[in-house]
Amino acid sequence: LPEIDWEAVTKEATDLLARFIRIESMNPPGDEVDACAFLGAVLAAEGVDHTTYDAGSRRVSLSATLPGDTSLRPLILLNHSDVVPVQEEFWTVEPFGGAVRDGQIWGRGALDMKGMAVMELMTFILLKRQSIALRRPLVLLSVADEEAGGAWGIEWLDRHHPELLDGEWVINEGACGFASLLDQDRPVFAFCPAEKTPLWLTLRARGPAGHGSMPLPNAAPVRLTGALQRINEWQRATRVLPVVDAMFDGLVQGRVLAERPDAGQIPALARVAPQLRAMTTDTVSLTTSNYGVKINVIPALAEATLDCRLLPDRDPGEFLAELRGVIDDDDIEIETMFVSPSGISPLDNDLTATARAVTREMMEDSLFVPVISPGFTDSRTFRRRGIPAYGFCPSLLKTEEFATIHGHDERISIENLKLGTQVIYEVTRRLCAA
Ligand SMILES: [Zn+2]
Repeated sequence: LPEIDWEAVTKEATDLLARFIRIESMNPPGDEVDACAFLGAVLAAEGVDHTTYDAGSRRVSLSATLPGDTSLRPLILLNHSDVVPVQEEFWTVEPFGGAVRDGQIWGRGALDMKGMAVMELMTFILLKRQSIALRRPLVLLSVADEEAGGAWGIEWLDRHHPELLDGEWVINEGACGFASLLDQDRPVFAFCPAEKTPLWLTLRARGPAGHGSMPLPNAAPVRLTGALQRINEWQRATRVLPVVDAMFDGLVQGRVLAERPDAGQIPALARVAPQLRAMTTDTVSLTTSNYGVKINVIPALAEATLDCRLLPDRDPGEFLAELRGVIDDDDIEIETMFVSPSGISPLDNDLTATARAVTREMMEDSLFVPVISPGFTDSRTFRRRGIPAYGFCPSLLKTEEFATIHGHDERISIENLKLGTQVIYEVTRRLCAA
Protein backbone atom coordinates (compact mmCIF):
# COMPACT_ATOMS: atom_id res chain seq x y z
CA LEU A 1 0.00 0.00 0.00
CA PRO A 2 1.23 3.49 -0.74
CA GLU A 3 2.06 5.22 2.50
CA ILE A 4 -0.18 8.17 3.28
CA ASP A 5 1.47 11.57 3.50
CA TRP A 6 -0.56 12.85 6.46
CA GLU A 7 0.92 16.34 6.27
CA ALA A 8 -0.33 16.69 2.70
CA VAL A 9 -3.69 15.15 3.63
CA THR A 10 -4.04 17.61 6.51
CA LYS A 11 -3.35 20.54 4.19
CA GLU A 12 -5.93 19.23 1.78
CA ALA A 13 -8.50 18.68 4.55
CA THR A 14 -7.85 22.18 5.91
CA ASP A 15 -8.44 23.70 2.50
CA LEU A 16 -11.60 21.64 1.94
CA LEU A 17 -13.04 22.65 5.30
CA ALA A 18 -12.29 26.35 4.75
CA ARG A 19 -14.07 26.21 1.41
CA PHE A 20 -16.97 24.16 2.80
CA ILE A 21 -17.51 26.72 5.60
CA ARG A 22 -17.71 29.50 2.99
CA ILE A 23 -20.80 27.86 1.51
CA GLU A 24 -23.60 29.28 3.65
CA SER A 25 -26.05 26.55 4.51
CA MET A 26 -27.73 28.12 7.49
CA ASN A 27 -30.88 26.37 8.68
CA PRO A 28 -33.36 28.00 8.47
CA PRO A 29 -33.69 28.08 5.53
CA GLY A 30 -31.17 25.23 5.04
CA ASP A 31 -30.62 25.49 1.34
CA GLU A 32 -28.14 22.60 1.20
CA VAL A 33 -28.08 22.50 -2.59
CA ASP A 34 -24.77 24.39 -2.89
CA ALA A 35 -23.16 22.36 -0.10
CA CYS A 36 -24.07 19.16 -1.95
CA ALA A 37 -22.78 20.61 -5.23
CA PHE A 38 -19.47 21.30 -3.47
CA LEU A 39 -19.20 17.74 -2.10
CA GLY A 40 -20.30 16.33 -5.45
CA ALA A 41 -17.58 18.28 -7.30
CA VAL A 42 -14.89 17.05 -4.90
CA LEU A 43 -16.05 13.44 -5.42
CA ALA A 44 -16.30 13.86 -9.20
CA ALA A 45 -12.70 15.09 -9.29
CA GLU A 46 -11.72 11.76 -7.70
CA GLY A 47 -13.75 9.82 -10.24
CA VAL A 48 -16.51 8.90 -7.77
CA ASP A 49 -20.17 9.07 -8.78
CA HIS A 50 -22.71 10.45 -6.38
CA THR A 51 -26.47 10.67 -6.18
CA THR A 52 -28.44 13.64 -4.91
CA TYR A 53 -31.89 13.46 -3.33
CA ASP A 54 -34.06 16.51 -3.70
CA ALA A 55 -36.76 16.83 -1.05
CA GLY A 56 -37.94 20.09 -2.65
CA SER A 57 -37.36 23.72 -1.68
CA ARG A 58 -33.61 23.38 -2.36
CA ARG A 59 -33.28 20.80 0.41
CA VAL A 60 -30.83 18.30 -0.98
CA SER A 61 -28.97 15.29 0.44
CA LEU A 62 -26.15 13.34 -1.21
CA SER A 63 -24.77 9.83 -1.17
CA ALA A 64 -21.75 8.13 -2.72
CA THR A 65 -20.63 4.51 -2.48
CA LEU A 66 -17.34 2.70 -2.76
CA PRO A 67 -18.46 -0.78 -3.79
CA GLY A 68 -17.68 -3.97 -1.91
CA ASP A 69 -19.19 -7.40 -1.52
CA THR A 70 -22.90 -6.71 -1.98
CA SER A 71 -23.85 -9.49 0.40
CA LEU A 72 -22.50 -7.33 3.21
CA ARG A 73 -24.23 -4.21 4.39
CA PRO A 74 -22.21 -0.99 4.18
CA LEU A 75 -20.55 1.10 6.81
CA ILE A 76 -22.22 4.50 6.56
CA LEU A 77 -20.24 7.66 7.25
CA LEU A 78 -23.04 10.11 8.04
CA ASN A 79 -22.94 13.89 8.23
CA HIS A 80 -25.23 16.87 7.76
CA SER A 81 -24.41 19.87 5.61
CA ASP A 82 -26.70 22.44 7.26
CA VAL A 83 -25.52 24.65 10.11
CA VAL A 84 -27.26 26.75 12.76
CA PRO A 85 -27.60 30.54 12.35
CA VAL A 86 -25.06 32.99 13.75
CA GLN A 87 -25.22 36.17 15.77
CA GLU A 88 -22.55 37.89 13.77
CA GLU A 89 -22.06 40.77 16.22
CA PHE A 90 -20.53 38.36 18.77
CA TRP A 91 -17.97 36.88 16.38
CA THR A 92 -14.39 38.10 16.12
CA VAL A 93 -14.01 36.55 12.64
CA GLU A 94 -16.34 36.33 9.68
CA PRO A 95 -18.67 33.38 10.48
CA PHE A 96 -18.68 32.20 6.87
CA GLY A 97 -15.17 33.35 6.01
CA GLY A 98 -13.40 30.04 6.56
CA ALA A 99 -10.34 31.81 7.98
CA VAL A 100 -7.30 29.67 8.74
CA ARG A 101 -5.15 31.19 11.44
CA ASP A 102 -3.48 30.40 14.76
CA GLY A 103 -3.62 26.72 13.90
CA GLN A 104 -7.42 26.79 13.70
CA ILE A 105 -10.06 26.77 11.00
CA TRP A 106 -12.75 29.29 11.92
CA GLY A 107 -16.40 29.48 11.03
CA ARG A 108 -19.91 28.19 11.53
CA GLY A 109 -19.91 24.44 11.08
CA ALA A 110 -16.21 23.93 11.90
CA LEU A 111 -17.28 21.56 14.69
CA ASP A 112 -20.98 21.02 13.92
CA MET A 113 -20.37 19.38 11.62
CA LYS A 114 -18.58 20.35 8.44
CA GLY A 115 -15.28 19.50 10.11
CA MET A 116 -16.33 15.90 10.70
CA ALA A 117 -17.89 15.78 7.23
CA VAL A 118 -14.43 16.60 5.84
CA MET A 119 -12.84 13.85 7.98
CA GLU A 120 -15.33 11.42 6.44
CA LEU A 121 -14.89 12.81 2.93
CA MET A 122 -11.07 12.54 3.16
CA THR A 123 -11.39 8.95 4.43
CA PHE A 124 -13.58 8.12 1.48
CA ILE A 125 -11.24 9.82 -1.01
CA LEU A 126 -8.10 8.22 0.43
CA LEU A 127 -9.55 4.71 0.21
CA LYS A 128 -10.53 5.42 -3.38
CA ARG A 129 -7.10 6.86 -4.28
CA GLN A 130 -5.31 3.92 -2.75
CA SER A 131 -7.54 1.57 -4.76
CA ILE A 132 -8.05 -0.47 -1.62
CA ALA A 133 -10.31 -3.43 -2.34
CA LEU A 134 -13.28 -3.40 0.02
CA ARG A 135 -15.10 -6.41 1.28
CA ARG A 136 -17.77 -4.20 2.76
CA PRO A 137 -19.24 -1.27 0.79
CA LEU A 138 -18.59 2.18 2.17
CA VAL A 139 -21.28 4.86 1.95
CA LEU A 140 -20.79 8.57 2.44
CA LEU A 141 -24.14 10.14 3.29
CA SER A 142 -24.53 13.89 3.68
CA VAL A 143 -28.03 14.92 4.65
CA ALA A 144 -30.05 18.11 4.84
CA ASP A 145 -31.98 19.63 7.73
CA GLU A 146 -30.40 17.95 10.75
CA GLU A 147 -30.45 21.19 12.71
CA ALA A 148 -34.24 21.50 12.41
CA GLY A 149 -35.15 17.88 13.13
CA GLY A 150 -34.54 16.26 9.73
CA ALA A 151 -38.01 16.46 8.16
CA TRP A 152 -36.33 17.51 4.88
CA GLY A 153 -33.30 15.33 5.47
CA ILE A 154 -32.98 11.98 7.24
CA GLU A 155 -36.70 11.61 7.96
CA TRP A 156 -37.50 12.36 4.32
CA LEU A 157 -34.91 9.81 3.17
CA ASP A 158 -36.29 7.31 5.67
CA ARG A 159 -39.67 7.54 3.93
CA HIS A 160 -38.58 7.94 0.29
CA HIS A 161 -35.25 6.08 0.06
CA PRO A 162 -35.22 3.62 2.97
CA GLU A 163 -32.61 1.50 1.14
CA LEU A 164 -30.10 4.30 1.87
CA LEU A 165 -30.42 3.71 5.59
CA ASP A 166 -29.71 0.02 5.39
CA GLY A 167 -26.21 -0.11 6.87
CA GLU A 168 -24.34 -2.48 9.15
CA TRP A 169 -23.18 0.48 11.29
CA VAL A 170 -23.28 4.25 11.17
CA ILE A 171 -20.60 6.69 12.29
CA ASN A 172 -22.05 10.15 12.96
CA GLU A 173 -21.71 13.22 15.14
CA GLY A 174 -22.96 13.03 18.72
CA ALA A 175 -19.84 12.68 20.85
CA CYS A 176 -16.52 14.54 20.68
CA GLY A 177 -13.47 13.64 22.72
CA PHE A 178 -12.05 15.66 25.58
CA ALA A 179 -8.49 16.95 25.73
CA SER A 180 -8.85 16.70 29.50
CA LEU A 181 -11.65 15.71 31.80
CA LEU A 182 -12.23 16.47 35.48
CA ASP A 183 -8.84 18.20 35.64
CA GLN A 184 -7.06 15.03 34.53
CA ASP A 185 -4.72 15.66 31.63
CA ARG A 186 -5.63 12.55 29.77
CA PRO A 187 -7.22 12.33 26.32
CA VAL A 188 -10.70 10.81 26.45
CA PHE A 189 -12.35 9.68 23.23
CA ALA A 190 -16.10 9.45 23.69
CA PHE A 191 -18.59 7.47 21.68
CA CYS A 192 -22.31 7.74 21.89
CA PRO A 193 -24.52 4.66 21.45
CA ALA A 194 -27.66 6.38 22.78
CA GLU A 195 -29.29 9.77 23.05
CA LYS A 196 -31.97 11.27 25.22
CA THR A 197 -35.44 11.14 23.67
CA PRO A 198 -36.78 14.60 22.94
CA LEU A 199 -40.39 15.12 24.05
CA TRP A 200 -41.62 18.64 23.36
CA LEU A 201 -44.89 19.63 24.98
CA THR A 202 -47.28 22.53 25.04
CA LEU A 203 -49.34 22.97 28.20
CA ARG A 204 -52.55 24.92 27.85
CA ALA A 205 -54.94 26.29 30.45
CA ARG A 206 -58.26 27.91 29.63
CA GLY A 207 -60.39 29.92 32.00
CA PRO A 208 -62.75 32.84 32.39
CA ALA A 209 -61.59 36.18 31.01
CA GLY A 210 -62.13 39.34 32.97
CA HIS A 211 -60.96 42.68 34.30
CA GLY A 212 -57.58 42.68 36.02
CA SER A 213 -59.06 44.67 38.89
CA MET A 214 -61.10 41.66 40.01
CA PRO A 215 -58.94 38.54 40.28
CA LEU A 216 -60.40 35.21 39.23
CA PRO A 217 -59.04 32.26 41.20
CA ASN A 218 -59.74 29.98 38.27
CA ALA A 219 -58.00 32.18 35.68
CA ALA A 220 -55.90 30.41 33.07
CA PRO A 221 -52.55 32.01 34.12
CA VAL A 222 -53.15 31.10 37.75
CA ARG A 223 -53.84 27.47 36.94
CA LEU A 224 -50.96 27.17 34.53
CA THR A 225 -48.52 28.77 36.96
CA GLY A 226 -49.63 26.32 39.64
CA ALA A 227 -48.99 23.43 37.26
CA LEU A 228 -45.53 24.73 36.35
CA GLN A 229 -44.71 25.15 40.01
CA ARG A 230 -45.58 21.52 40.70
CA ILE A 231 -43.52 20.37 37.70
CA ASN A 232 -40.60 22.41 38.97
CA GLU A 233 -40.74 20.69 42.34
CA TRP A 234 -41.09 17.22 40.82
CA GLN A 235 -38.25 14.95 41.95
CA ARG A 236 -37.51 12.45 39.21
CA ALA A 237 -35.69 9.20 39.81
CA THR A 238 -32.00 8.88 39.03
CA ARG A 239 -31.14 5.79 37.02
CA VAL A 240 -27.76 4.50 35.85
CA LEU A 241 -28.15 2.76 32.51
CA PRO A 242 -25.51 0.26 31.31
CA VAL A 243 -23.99 2.95 29.04
CA VAL A 244 -23.31 5.20 32.04
CA ASP A 245 -22.13 2.22 34.06
CA ALA A 246 -19.57 1.47 31.35
CA MET A 247 -18.58 5.15 31.26
CA PHE A 248 -17.86 5.09 35.01
CA ASP A 249 -15.88 1.86 34.60
CA GLY A 250 -13.75 3.39 31.86
CA LEU A 251 -13.10 6.59 33.79
CA VAL A 252 -12.16 4.70 36.96
CA GLN A 253 -9.88 2.28 35.11
CA GLY A 254 -8.21 5.27 33.46
CA ARG A 255 -7.97 6.98 36.85
CA VAL A 256 -9.85 10.03 35.62
CA LEU A 257 -12.29 9.25 38.44
CA ALA A 258 -10.80 8.11 41.73
CA GLU A 259 -13.67 5.75 42.41
CA ARG A 260 -17.04 5.00 40.98
CA PRO A 261 -19.87 6.88 42.66
CA ASP A 262 -22.32 4.50 44.31
CA ALA A 263 -26.00 4.73 43.46
CA GLY A 264 -26.73 6.78 46.58
CA GLN A 265 -24.20 9.48 45.64
CA ILE A 266 -25.40 10.01 42.11
CA PRO A 267 -28.44 12.23 42.80
CA ALA A 268 -26.26 14.70 44.74
CA LEU A 269 -23.55 14.62 42.06
CA ALA A 270 -26.15 15.05 39.34
CA ARG A 271 -27.51 18.18 41.00
CA VAL A 272 -24.18 19.95 40.51
CA ALA A 273 -23.05 18.34 37.23
CA PRO A 274 -25.57 19.10 34.47
CA GLN A 275 -24.04 16.53 32.08
CA LEU A 276 -24.29 13.75 34.63
CA ARG A 277 -27.81 14.85 35.46
CA ALA A 278 -28.71 14.65 31.76
CA MET A 279 -27.28 11.13 31.56
CA THR A 280 -29.06 9.81 34.64
CA THR A 281 -32.50 11.46 34.76
CA ASP A 282 -35.39 12.60 32.61
CA THR A 283 -35.08 16.38 32.46
CA VAL A 284 -37.69 19.11 31.98
CA SER A 285 -36.96 22.67 30.93
CA LEU A 286 -39.61 25.37 30.82
CA THR A 287 -38.70 27.18 27.61
CA THR A 288 -41.50 29.55 26.59
CA SER A 289 -44.65 30.93 28.13
CA ASN A 290 -47.39 33.02 26.63
CA TYR A 291 -49.99 34.30 28.99
CA GLY A 292 -51.86 37.38 28.02
CA VAL A 293 -52.37 40.50 25.97
CA LYS A 294 -52.55 43.48 28.31
CA ILE A 295 -51.75 44.29 31.91
CA ASN A 296 -55.34 44.87 33.03
CA VAL A 297 -56.94 41.99 31.11
CA ILE A 298 -57.22 38.48 32.56
CA PRO A 299 -56.68 36.28 29.52
CA ALA A 300 -58.79 33.23 28.73
CA LEU A 301 -55.77 31.27 27.58
CA ALA A 302 -52.31 30.60 28.97
CA GLU A 303 -49.69 28.43 27.31
CA ALA A 304 -46.21 27.22 28.08
CA THR A 305 -43.80 24.88 26.36
CA LEU A 306 -41.66 22.24 28.03
CA ASP A 307 -38.54 20.72 26.51
CA CYS A 308 -38.42 17.27 28.11
CA ARG A 309 -35.53 14.89 27.45
CA LEU A 310 -36.10 11.31 28.51
CA LEU A 311 -33.59 8.60 29.23
CA PRO A 312 -33.29 6.49 26.08
CA ASP A 313 -35.14 3.49 27.52
CA ARG A 314 -37.99 5.54 28.96
CA ASP A 315 -41.45 5.12 27.43
CA PRO A 316 -42.82 8.59 26.53
CA GLY A 317 -46.39 7.47 27.30
CA GLU A 318 -45.39 6.40 30.79
CA PHE A 319 -43.57 9.69 31.35
CA LEU A 320 -46.64 11.64 30.19
CA ALA A 321 -48.87 9.70 32.58
CA GLU A 322 -46.54 10.62 35.45
CA LEU A 323 -46.45 14.23 34.34
CA ARG A 324 -50.26 14.32 34.32
CA GLY A 325 -50.24 13.06 37.87
CA VAL A 326 -47.77 15.78 38.90
CA ILE A 327 -49.81 18.52 37.21
CA ASP A 328 -52.86 17.16 39.01
CA ASP A 329 -55.31 19.35 37.09
CA ASP A 330 -57.47 17.64 34.48
CA ASP A 331 -58.33 20.93 32.86
CA ILE A 332 -54.76 21.51 31.72
CA GLU A 333 -54.30 20.27 28.21
CA ILE A 334 -51.00 18.64 27.25
CA GLU A 335 -50.17 18.60 23.56
CA THR A 336 -47.18 16.65 22.23
CA MET A 337 -45.43 18.79 19.62
CA PHE A 338 -42.55 16.43 18.90
CA VAL A 339 -41.36 13.11 20.21
CA SER A 340 -38.69 10.89 18.72
CA PRO A 341 -37.58 7.84 20.68
CA SER A 342 -34.73 5.89 19.16
CA GLY A 343 -33.17 3.09 21.15
CA ILE A 344 -29.74 2.07 22.34
CA SER A 345 -27.01 0.67 20.08
CA PRO A 346 -24.76 -2.10 21.43
CA LEU A 347 -21.79 -1.10 23.58
CA ASP A 348 -19.64 -3.90 22.20
CA ASN A 349 -19.44 -4.95 18.58
CA ASP A 350 -16.86 -4.89 15.77
CA LEU A 351 -17.20 -1.17 15.31
CA THR A 352 -16.69 -0.18 18.94
CA ALA A 353 -13.88 -2.75 19.36
CA THR A 354 -12.13 -1.38 16.28
CA ALA A 355 -12.54 2.24 17.36
CA ARG A 356 -11.26 1.34 20.83
CA ALA A 357 -8.19 -0.37 19.36
CA VAL A 358 -7.42 2.40 16.87
CA THR A 359 -7.69 5.23 19.42
CA ARG A 360 -5.51 3.28 21.85
CA GLU A 361 -2.84 2.65 19.19
CA MET A 362 -2.93 6.27 18.11
CA MET A 363 -2.64 7.60 21.66
CA GLU A 364 -1.39 5.11 24.15
CA ASP A 365 -2.71 6.85 27.26
CA SER A 366 -6.13 7.64 25.81
CA LEU A 367 -9.46 6.36 27.08
CA PHE A 368 -12.46 5.34 25.03
CA VAL A 369 -15.72 5.64 26.93
CA PRO A 370 -19.41 5.61 26.05
CA VAL A 371 -21.69 8.54 26.85
CA ILE A 372 -25.39 9.31 26.52
CA SER A 373 -25.84 12.45 24.48
CA PRO A 374 -28.28 14.95 26.02
CA GLY A 375 -29.13 16.20 22.51
CA PHE A 376 -30.44 14.21 19.58
CA THR A 377 -28.98 13.62 16.14
CA ASP A 378 -29.90 11.85 12.93
CA SER A 379 -28.55 8.63 14.50
CA ARG A 380 -31.98 8.14 16.07
CA THR A 381 -33.56 7.38 12.70
CA PHE A 382 -31.09 4.51 12.16
CA ARG A 383 -31.43 3.19 15.71
CA ARG A 384 -35.19 3.18 15.26
CA ARG A 385 -34.58 0.77 12.36
CA GLY A 386 -32.33 -1.36 14.56
CA ILE A 387 -29.14 -0.24 12.83
CA PRO A 388 -26.30 0.43 15.28
CA ALA A 389 -25.36 4.12 15.07
CA TYR A 390 -22.61 5.84 17.00
CA GLY A 391 -21.74 9.40 17.70
CA PHE A 392 -17.99 9.34 17.29
CA CYS A 393 -16.08 12.48 16.36
CA PRO A 394 -12.52 11.58 17.29
CA SER A 395 -11.31 15.08 18.09
CA LEU A 396 -10.04 16.08 21.51
CA LEU A 397 -11.66 19.37 22.40
CA LYS A 398 -10.90 21.82 25.15
CA THR A 399 -13.78 23.14 27.25
CA GLU A 400 -13.67 26.53 25.53
CA GLU A 401 -13.89 24.84 22.13
CA PHE A 402 -17.01 22.86 23.14
CA ALA A 403 -18.67 26.16 23.98
CA THR A 404 -18.37 27.36 20.37
CA ILE A 405 -20.72 24.62 19.09
CA HIS A 406 -23.92 26.55 18.25
CA GLY A 407 -22.10 29.51 19.88
CA HIS A 408 -19.71 32.20 18.69
CA ASP A 409 -16.26 31.90 17.07
CA GLU A 410 -16.80 28.23 16.24
CA ARG A 411 -13.49 26.64 15.27
CA ILE A 412 -11.55 23.41 15.03
CA SER A 413 -7.81 23.08 15.37
CA ILE A 414 -5.92 21.75 12.37
CA GLU A 415 -4.44 19.19 14.77
CA ASN A 416 -7.93 17.90 15.63
CA LEU A 417 -8.94 17.82 11.98
CA LYS A 418 -5.88 15.68 11.30
CA LEU A 419 -6.43 13.40 14.31
CA GLY A 420 -10.10 12.91 13.40
CA THR A 421 -9.26 12.11 9.80
CA GLN A 422 -6.60 9.61 10.83
CA VAL A 423 -8.87 7.82 13.30
CA ILE A 424 -11.91 7.67 11.02
CA TYR A 425 -9.75 6.55 8.11
CA GLU A 426 -8.15 3.75 10.09
CA VAL A 427 -11.40 2.56 11.70
CA THR A 428 -13.08 2.56 8.29
CA ARG A 429 -10.18 0.77 6.61
CA ARG A 430 -10.18 -2.00 9.21
CA LEU A 431 -13.94 -2.47 9.01
CA CYS A 432 -14.21 -2.39 5.23
CA ALA A 433 -10.93 -3.42 3.57
CA ALA A 434 -10.80 -6.89 2.02
ZN1 LIG B 1 -24.79 18.64 14.15
